[in-house]
Amino acid sequence: MAILVPGGAGYIGSHTVERLIEKGFEVVVVDSLATGHRQSVNTKATFYQGDIRDRDFLDQVFNKENIDGVIHFAANSIVPESMEKPLKYFDNNTGGMITLLEAMHDHNVNNIIFSSTAATYGEPESIPVKETDSQVPTNPYGESKLMMEKIMKWADVAYGIKYTALRYFNVGGAIMDGSIGEDHGPETHLIPIILQVAQGTRDQLQIFGTDYPTKDGTNVRDYVHVMDLADAHILALQRLLDGGYSDAFNLGSSTGFSNREMLETARKVTGKEIPVVDAPRRAGDPSTLVADSTKAREVLGWQPQHDNVEDIIASAWKWTQQHPHGFED
Ligand code: UDP
Repeated sequence: MAILVPGGAGYIGSHTVERLIEKGFEVVVVDSLATGHRQSVNTKATFYQGDIRDRDFLDQVFNKENIDGVIHFAANSIVPESMEKPLKYFDNNTGGMITLLEAMHDHNVNNIIFSSTAATYGEPESIPVKETDSQVPTNPYGESKLMMEKIMKWADVAYGIKYTALRYFNVGGAIMDGSIGEDHGPETHLIPIILQVAQGTRDQLQIFGTDYPTKDGTNVRDYVHVMDLADAHILALQRLLDGGYSDAFNLGSSTGFSNREMLETARKVTGKEIPVVDAPRRAGDPSTLVADSTKAREVLGWQPQHDNVEDIIASAWKWTQQHPHGFED
């Protein structure tokens, strides 16, 4: 059984590929390597470099490989960048989904697991956020992903392509042996930035916004370990392969940590001082995002194994120490 993984050379994609291989799936990765890393892809996976907006490229892959299902990660995912370059996000993310679904339809592949995001909810109407809450994104990244969810819904109605939208909250950590991890260029995410400061490859942490209506004035986020997230993809895939209907699930820990609490935890885990300065709010950031992930636990049987931020930061720290300059090392 071969699973196509567009974006399998990215952070979450490469960790999910590890789990797929562990579970005995045959894995075919396609990635443009615009942001992904060839070295992060397990050597047991078949790899094709190319862009999912390129229909001829996709046709070649579908013709050559016997694909049973798709786990789709290929997208841009940086909120601040999306505020400055919205059309890049609608082109690559939303446009990419259209071409991928057209190719799936023509090649009779009828299952897709999709990397969606809490950013589709925007500023939540209540906390914790439920799947049925209104989705009003506050940035083009979230909007591009919401459009992708809606496109999948109509592709199901018209063509019977079943989808599962997994709405990630904040993802962190690395595979437990530290062999692969998070490496974005430029890095914008909180945990890797804190750890770069801990390690001395960055001078200081800037905390974006200290006047939010939260416990300590900084944004509150809900962190999930990347390997737990990978497990959720495999459970969701299995469910669709077994004939499950299309649906959406929040993936979070249901516990919120403020940016200052994340910093304090990282100081404890690393034993480093980690210099910090207060900075203005970052455009597009909702104040608090915490998931209600009861549905994923009940329907998918998802049981996160690393349900605390210490584990998440400790595994990311292991990767950072082994690879101070990311995949360049
Ligand atoms: N953040 C910060 N300093 C940084 C990077 C991020 O204060 O150098 C904050 C950011 O404003 C947000 C939280 O950390 O409140 C998580 O941001 P990240 O970019 O990691 O994920 P997002 O919530 O945007 O998906």
